Amino acid sequence: MSYTMKFELKSQFQIESARFLPKLPSEHPCSRMHGHSFILIFTFHGHLNPETGWVQDYHEISDILKPLLNQLDHHVLNEVPGLTNPTSEMLALWLFERAQKVLPDLVRVTVKETPTTECSFPI
Ligand SMILES: [Zn+2]
Repeated sequence: MSYTMKFELKSQFQIESARFLPKLPSEHPCSRMHGHSFILIFTFHGHLNPETGWVQDYHEISDILKPLLNQLDHHVLNEVPGLTNPTSEMLALWLFERAQKVLPDLVRVTVKETPTTECSFPI
């Protein structure tokens, strides 16, 4: 059996956060303080470890990401350093830049701010 092809793993988390988008006109609903139950999906590409039979331990991924997610969960995103304009795009970028340093197999972060909208970085 060949292990040259990669697998794709996804780990999903939910955080509750408040935000407002300061660059929008005051009549836009997102310019006011409001909350989201953000779904965050972290996608990894990696090779199978023939010893363990997996690419990476999901529990390990959770443990590594926890300190990062704790900075966002039940916080006002605008008050988090680097997120003064916390659009979903900026949130995906913020998460990818930090998570990729500790999880090098990370290839994408997807932010779902509602069940019908989502944003991914990078593609
Ligand atoms: Zn919003």
